[in-house]
Formats: sequence, structure tokens, C-alpha cells
Amino acid sequence: LDQRIPLPANRDELYRMSVTVNALLDRLQQAFQREKQFTADASHELKTPLAIVKGTLEVLVRKPRTVEHYESRVNACLAELNRMARLIDQLLLLARDDSSSMKPAIVEIDVAAPLEAALSRIEPFARQKGIALALADAPPCRVKADPSLLEIMFGNLLSNAIKYSPEGSSVEIRIERKEAAVVCAIEDHGIGIPAEQLPAIFDRFYRVDESRSSGTGGSGLGLAIVKKLADLQSIAISVRSEAGKGTTFELTFPS
Ligand code: ADP
Repeated sequence: LDQRIPLPANRDELYRMSVTVNALLDRLQQAFQREKQFTADASHELKTPLAIVKGTLEVLVRKPRTVEHYESRVNACLAELNRMARLIDQLLLLARDDSSSMKPAIVEIDVAAPLEAALSRIEPFARQKGIALALADAPPCRVKADPSLLEIMFGNLLSNAIKYSPEGSSVEIRIERKEAAVVCAIEDHGIGIPAEQLPAIFDRFYRVDESRSSGTGGSGLGLAIVKKLADLQSIAISVRSEAGKGTTFELTFPS
């Protein structure tokens, strides 16, 4: 893939063809590079919890202690294993190709249905942080989408809104009609995303700042999944954010 066609001196048809082939090779090389990076990141992310569980259990069998100590260590291992299971689910979702196995089952539905399903799943998580989830009243808005994929997308966006917001803040969810299109907005008043980082947040494994996101239990795959599922259903996704103020994600459904 490193090889490129030497460009002939005169700019005839052969010259133009060589330029095109070289550009194709560049794109192929970048795609291979991205896949290599993805595999390296995925194995790193999976190895970390595995190493923690292994290390914890090894110490535990060598040094017998109290029942309470056992309990706390086993619970820590369980938390790591749960994190690993979540990560594997996310990786499988991203790795599935866009052919038959990933054909969305598009139907006409009220967009509020999958949104409310995601809200009720995420509600306990919000309550833990004292965050109010407010869904504004809206007339029924029908969209063409796959309800189960939409529920995953709303779930990821809502859980981010909660993860990156301070305790006691609020998250507003609006369903609106803009001209012929239905738009769904999720607005938080959290830490926000610096402008220069916005273009990268949909990349796989991208996290704005490891230190500020550590402890949130994220892997940097949530938004990559949202983007992939949006593309599959021709839903446009946009984001506005101001560091320290908050973030708004908007989904615009095809009309
Ligand atoms: P993660 O699992 O780390 O949350 P995501 O792919 O869901 O990964 O998001 C990528 C990064 O984008 C996050 O690590 C976080 O830094 C940033 N981000 C996503 N949503 C928000 C939000 N609502 N507010 C602030 N930052 C966010």
C-alpha cells in the first residue's frame, strides 16, 4: 500500500487516472490504519479490567483476610466484569457490518415512544445524581426509524448528559417540528466540550480528557455508536456546546 504510481510528466488521461488511483490508495491506507488503531484500543480497553480482576483475585487467594475484606474485593471484581461485559456489547455493535445483520427495521412511529423507554431506563441513574430529566410536552411526531436502535441512541445521549453534568442540574429534552422535519434535542448544563474537540467526539474511543472523564465508567464508544446508528437510519446529528456551560445534541429525522 505504500507504493504510488509515478506521475507521468504530461497531464493527459493517464496522468489523471494515476492521481485518482493514488488518492484511492491513500484512503485505503488510512482505513487500514484506523482499523489497526481500533483493534489496539479495543484490546487495551479489555485488558485493563481483566488485569484488575486477575491482580485482585491473586492477592485475595494468597492472603486470607476477613469476610468483609473478601466481600469488598469480590464486589470490585464484579464491577470490573460488568464494565467488561458492557464494553464487549458496544464493540460487537460497532464491529457488525452494515449488511444484512445490521439492516434497520424502519417503521413509522411516534418518536416519543423509544425516547420514553430510554428515559425510564436511565431515570434511576439520574436520580442518584439528583438530576431532573424534563421532557417538554409535544404533539405526537411521527418519524421513520427503527425503534430499538433509536432507544439505544437516546440512552447513550441521555447517559452522557447525566455523566457530564453536576449533581442537582437538569437535562431538557424537546421534540419539535422544524419546517417539515422532526427534531429531537437533548440539552444539558454540564461541563461542555471545548470547540476544538467537537469534531472528534464521534470517533471510536475518543474521550475529551481522560482525567475529567475518568471515573465516569465510559469507554469512548457511546457517541461512535450513536453516529453509526444515525447514519444507518439517515438521521442527521449535530452538536452545540460551550465549555463550562453545557451541551445540546440534536437529531433531525428524514421527512
Ligand atoms: P464516553 O464513554 O467516554 O462517555 P462517548 O463516545 O459517549 O464516550 O463520548 C466521547 C466523549 O465526549 C466523552 O468522553 C466526553 O468527554 C465527551 N462528551 C460526550 N457527551 C458529552 C456531554 N453531554 N457533555 C460533555 N462532554 C460530553
